[in-house]
Amino acid sequence: MPREQLARLQLERLQATVANAYANVALVRQRFESAGLRPADIRSLDDIAHLPFTVKTDLRDQYPFGLFARPTQDLARLHASSGTTGKPTVVGYTLQDISNWSDLMARSMHAAGARRGDIIHNAYGYGLFTGGLGAHYGAERLGAVVVPMSGGSTERQVALIMDFKARVLCATPSYALAIAEVAEQQGVDLRQSNLQIGLFGAEPWSAAMRHEIEERIGVKAVDIYGLSEIMGPGVACECECQEGLHGWEDNFLFEVIDPETGKVLPEGQAGELVITTLTKQALPMLRYRTRDITKLTTQRCDCGRTHVRILRITGRNDDMLIIRGVNVYPSQIESVLVGRPHIAPHYQLIVEREGSLDNVRVEVEVLPGTPEAQFPAISRDVRHHIKSMIGITTTVAVQAPGTVPRSQGKAVRVRDLRPKGA
Ligand SMILES: [Zn+2]
Repeated sequence: MPREQLARLQLERLQATVANAYANVALVRQRFESAGLRPADIRSLDDIAHLPFTVKTDLRDQYPFGLFARPTQDLARLHASSGTTGKPTVVGYTLQDISNWSDLMARSMHAAGARRGDIIHNAYGYGLFTGGLGAHYGAERLGAVVVPMSGGSTERQVALIMDFKARVLCATPSYALAIAEVAEQQGVDLRQSNLQIGLFGAEPWSAAMRHEIEERIGVKAVDIYGLSEIMGPGVACECECQEGLHGWEDNFLFEVIDPETGKVLPEGQAGELVITTLTKQALPMLRYRTRDITKLTTQRCDCGRTHVRILRITGRNDDMLIIRGVNVYPSQIESVLVGRPHIAPHYQLIVEREGSLDNVRVEVEVLPGTPEAQFPAISRDVRHHIKSMIGITTTVAVQAPGTVPRSQGKAVRVRDLRPKGA
């Protein structure tokens, strides 16, 4: 769709979304009133900058159903995130919402190269997490054959990928690597399997990790993005050009803001991604602050799609570490580690306090067969490259293969051992 036509569609849907939220969500009406706003004030897409933001804590404060614009008897499904602190965030869908979500997941899978009749091995977790069912419904809508494997039982995953001749693998990037590792231990070469496409998401991953996964599994590794507060997976997805995630603008409005001031930033500048839903009935979301740091481009993609591209997400604001005044995302350290000689793509960052200073200990594994005598030299090499590429001094603990905990879903990259409240 030409971008001018897309903008007209977005405005029409934005106005309907604002009207729905204002009429049916008490918190939205209250915030409009205190800002002196009415739904009729949204006359252009730029007027969105006047609307108040929605943040993660709004969902917790309104637990469980306070932000819903439909009574529960009109819903078809509920999902929830297991919050590590406090109440979970609960999201709801009407049947129409589920249908739109299925369409967008099918569109995402098609953009990545999946087709009708493909066997899609779905290793995203099923349950309250939106990953498993989101991919499942999308695969069915595409006309593919879905294997609802979920996470875990990694040896069995390998056997079924081989026996069923799956062409598409859906998983978190860290779990895809765990599957690759188990396959190698069993003497199975996934590069010789039918797998050609991987849809990997639900955690930030670096370009180096993409290269590693493509080498080890023999797939085109495509990034897929989403979050349950907005819908679930399929809010944006890369096409076969792998040059950034196409954000599905007929269903969402994307902005990038300065996380400090809240001001909208011009295209191409890095900041926090803010998303407004344009078609959601049960849980319309106005200017939701994702805390993901990225930038947008409307430059035409080689695939011909006109939808905006969300460039590789560096990390989530919450995951950012401030080490002696330097802002660091785990994915930056990952790009230094993955692909270095002797280093396996399994790592954890331990943040500790030494006296009044914060220290990062990088626990990383060597590849099988690396002699222990080389560990000190490898450690010095890694430490040197982190210092020269990111500017922070770290302690590097080089460890034997298999010692870093393996992911079954979303990887735990950081263990923060600093005293709480300090
Ligand atoms: Zn494209």
